[in-house]
Amino acid sequence: MLAITRYVKKPYIPFCLGCIVVIGILQFLFLKLVEWVPSFSPLLFPTLTIFLLVFHLFIACFMAMKYWCDRRRLYLIAIAFAFGGSALLMVGTLTSFPAWLDLYQFNVVDYNDAMIFFMFRHLLMAVLMIVSALLYIVRDNPLPRMAHISIVAATFLFTVIMVMLAWIYSSHSPWLSLDLVDNETHQFMVLWSHAINIVLIILWVVTLATLMLITRVRNLFWVGGNFLCVCYIVTLAMLLAGGHAEDISWYRARLFETVATLLIIFVLLYDVFQLYRDSHLKYQQSYQNSIRDPLTRLYNRSYFYDALNQALSTSKASRPVSVIVSDLDRFKRINDCYGHLQGDKVLKFVANLLMDSVRPQDIAARIGGEEFVLMLTNTSSEAAYRVAERIRLNLSSFDKTSSEGQLPEPITISMGVFTATSVDVTAEECVGNADKAMYEAKETGRNRVIVFRG
Ligand code: GH3
Ligand code: MG
Ligand code: MG
Repeated sequence: MLAITRYVKKPYIPFCLGCIVVIGILQFLFLKLVEWVPSFSPLLFPTLTIFLLVFHLFIACFMAMKYWCDRRRLYLIAIAFAFGGSALLMVGTLTSFPAWLDLYQFNVVDYNDAMIFFMFRHLLMAVLMIVSALLYIVRDNPLPRMAHISIVAATFLFTVIMVMLAWIYSSHSPWLSLDLVDNETHQFMVLWSHAINIVLIILWVVTLATLMLITRVRNLFWVGGNFLCVCYIVTLAMLLAGGHAEDISWYRARLFETVATLLIIFVLLYDVFQLYRDSHLKYQQSYQNSIRDPLTRLYNRSYFYDALNQALSTSKASRPVSVIVSDLDRFKRINDCYGHLQGDKVLKFVANLLMDSVRPQDIAARIGGEEFVLMLTNTSSEAAYRVAERIRLNLSSFDKTSSEGQLPEPITISMGVFTATSVDVTAEECVGNADKAMYEAKETGRNRVIVFRG
């Protein structure tokens, strides 16, 4: 019972059920299509082959680029060559329809050649998928550069040999020949139906088992890879059941393979989307970290000065920019009496209060240990004074209980206000003048707001 539960928890059973459902749906749709269209146009098969060729080429390029990004995941190279080689062999398949674009000869087809390219395509893909699964085992162990070069060269060589063999065995070369289909009667030859077809099915079953055991169908990418194996097994089994090369199973084979390929393409695009989302999120996080103070999450000094310089470039009498510099009163004593951790809590509390007291377009920043600054755009001196007073009174109204322990005792703040009404004032002068007003507040008894008056 425990063993069964463990298997259900693994994605094998959902995967198998999913395959049965998807293949069932495809089969149903295909039968409906056959009912609806009694005979397919001879142009359809080469057209579908071209589509599949482009899809396989796309996957091959994508895998190779993905590998090139970090040059670590060698299993991607085996997949790249599997699909790249498959695309090349599909070019061979297309040459089996030598005159398909010719109106009078479109149905001249060399079925035997098409079958030879089909056979080598399956051999190549199955072997490289197994190689990819084996390389997937060592994905976390960085292999030496020489191992990378050897594996890339070996998979490349294997692909080239398979493509060349397919070409040599086809009617394009006089050296070797292979009779899989009778081009006159379109019947499969014994070599195909009693040997190669069965061997290919066994090879794909071994590939599927290897892939499932090693990858454990752990992510969408391998769901796509495993599903492709299932589609090939079903396709070959259907070919085994039909004895005719013109059989409708060819169209079904193309449909299954195209759907499985599209699934892999969808997974790859989803992967790109996820990468984009993750990197955008990381960029946002690091950007925020670069402009904010880590303790209080208020803006930092450099961001504040940038924002102030920008606001000052358009300031005028009708669009004044006000700056309020604030410093906590006798803050050293808080640290000395209650410790630095408690002091930090006080700083966070004041920072939140400042943030909540201004409009979204205003800037609240921490420019020193317990010195804060506010930039209020489009705010007159009188309005800025009222904002500062409101903050000062609000802060002094909190005690230990009402601040939920954030303030160990009531805290007061001294504030200085300066308002720029022209573009001639620099950011440093603005902060300097507000600072002077704040020091005046300190000198005249603390816990007050002073407006800078020349
Ligand atoms: P005054 O009313 O004159 O401003 O008196 P004060 O004690 O607040 O004097 P001052 O502004 O010079 O004190 C700054 C203190 O702020 C000194 C330092 O211990 C404390 N401080 C600075 N940065 C931090 C911090 O990040 N965390 C904590 N807990 N304390 C800090
Ligand atoms: Mg202070
Ligand atoms: Mg200070």
